This record gives sequence, structure tokens and C-alpha cells, in this order.
Amino acid sequence: MSMQQLKSEFDLTLNHLYPSTEISNFFYLLTSALFGLTKVDIALNRDFKPSSSQLKSFNEATERLKHFEPIQYIIGTTHFFGYDFKVDHNVLIPRPETEELVEWIIKNHPNNEHLTIVDIGTGSGCIAIALKKHFKSCNVYALDISKKALNIAELNARNNNTHIQFLEIDILNHQKSQAVFSQIAQNKTIDIIVSNPPYVRYQEQKDMQRNVLDHEPALALYVDNHKPLVFYDAICRIARQWLNKNGALYFEINEYLGLETKQLFQQYNFGDVELKKDFFGAHRMICGQKK
Ligand code: GLN
Repeated sequence: MSMQQLKSEFDLTLNHLYPSTEISNFFYLLTSALFGLTKVDIALNRDFKPSSSQLKSFNEATERLKHFEPIQYIIGTTHFFGYDFKVDHNVLIPRPETEELVEWIIKNHPNNEHLTIVDIGTGSGCIAIALKKHFKSCNVYALDISKKALNIAELNARNNNTHIQFLEIDILNHQKSQAVFSQIAQNKTIDIIVSNPPYVRYQEQKDMQRNVLDHEPALALYVDNHKPLVFYDAICRIARQWLNKNGALYFEINEYLGLETKQLFQQYNFGDVELKKDFFGAHRMICGQKK
């Protein structure tokens, strides 16, 4: 089978499910991950004979795409902030909006190498690792409720040559959270707490795509319609207690709950509260300072 044939069969199988630019992108990603081919190899239609096991993997991947499984889970990796990250069904696929949150933190803390940073709900570890890459001599703690997510995050830290301390935590369990934070604060005072916690209300599922709904971890995404800020409340409370004076709290937020989140910051007496829009113009981030 020629490369051209492989590509036209792939197009034919998927063209009623995805736009053509996306299908081409999937093709490049799969042929690169499974066959080690480059875009140039494909454009030049270079002679290529996949082995039967390579073809089998390719067909299995195509089948998974038919079920709207994200390509990042199929090939097992993605990029965030210029670094490679392993991902599987236990962690959210890092989003470009979250890169904007990391950029914002970096911009707000120039010449601040020696920070102590805590990332709550680290998932793949993307925020913690990108920050550690930038603030080379900072101490980073990355926390998650999911052991399986922590395993992926640890692997990502190792692959990106970063040293990060990983701890298991259920941030809604006040007593246990106190134990974890007193452990962290024994060694260091905390300068920055950052989190991208679950914030999608179940009522918003009707507007979501199958790739997210059917494949990404519910544990990392959803909150009760009636208590959408439950994680923000718990984390504000922790931050109020454990952040340094003038320490900063950063969140990624639900774009529809910007004002409510801002009010929560004010309730907990944070100062200089700032809501920030993402690239798409949606309120996506907030930060405040412990007074
Ligand atoms: N932004 C993610 C989404 O659109 C949600 C991330 C989260 O809940 N923290 O699916």
C-alpha cells in the first residue's frame, strides 16, 4: 500500500466526522508517532512499506479516532509551553488557556527565582513543570487527589529534567489538607499557590464535544451545578492560611463565573484581585494577593 493510498483511506474513514484540516493533522501525528515519518516524507510521497504490526497499530488508532478519542491519548503525548508531556485517560489534556495562566505568573514575578510554588490538582503536571522550567531555583510542590495522575506527572517531571515534590491530597478534606500544608510549610513559606481545579458544571455538558465528554477524566472536570466554586472555596481558605504575606493565588476559572470567583477572593480578603481574559476573550484566570 502506498502512502497516498493509506492517506485516502484514512480521509474516507473520517471525513464525515472531522474537518479535513483536522484529518490531515491526525495523519501527520499518527504517521510520525507510529512510523517515524515527517511531513516532508508524506508531502514527497516517499516510498514506505509499513510492517503488518505498524499497519495494525495505524488501523487501531483510526478506529479510536472514529470514537472521538483525543489524538493526544492515542499517541500518548502532547506539548505544553514548548515541552513534551505524556498523557493518558487519568489526566486532562493540557489546554492552551492554561499556557496563558503560566505566562501570566511568569510575567507577574520577574527576577523571582527562589519562590516556593504549590500547584493544586496538578494532573499531568503541566503547570508545575512549566513553572519549574522557568523559575529554575524555585521549590515546586505538585498535589493531586489521583495517584494515577501523580504517576504521570512524576514521569513528566523526570522526562523534562525537573525536580518537583509530589503529594497526594484531597483538598476538600480539610483535616488532611492541613496535614499536607503544614508539612510543606515546615520547610518553606509559600509564595504562590496555583490551581486549575474542576470547574465545568454538569449543566454545561450539553455544549461540550464528545472528545472531552467521553474520554477526559470526569474527576478533573466537573462540579455540581449548585456548588460550582467548591474547589475555589477550599483553596482560597487554604491559601488564606498558608500563603506568605503578599503571596499570590492564581486560578484558571470557568469563564461564566468570573464575578462570583472575584467575590470569593474578596470574601477571603485577598487584595489586588484581577480577572484576566484568555486569547478567546473569555474570563479565564484570576489572581489575588494575600494582604
Ligand atoms: N478548560 C477545560 C475544558 O474546557 C476544563 C478544565 C477544568 O475543569 N479545570 O474542558
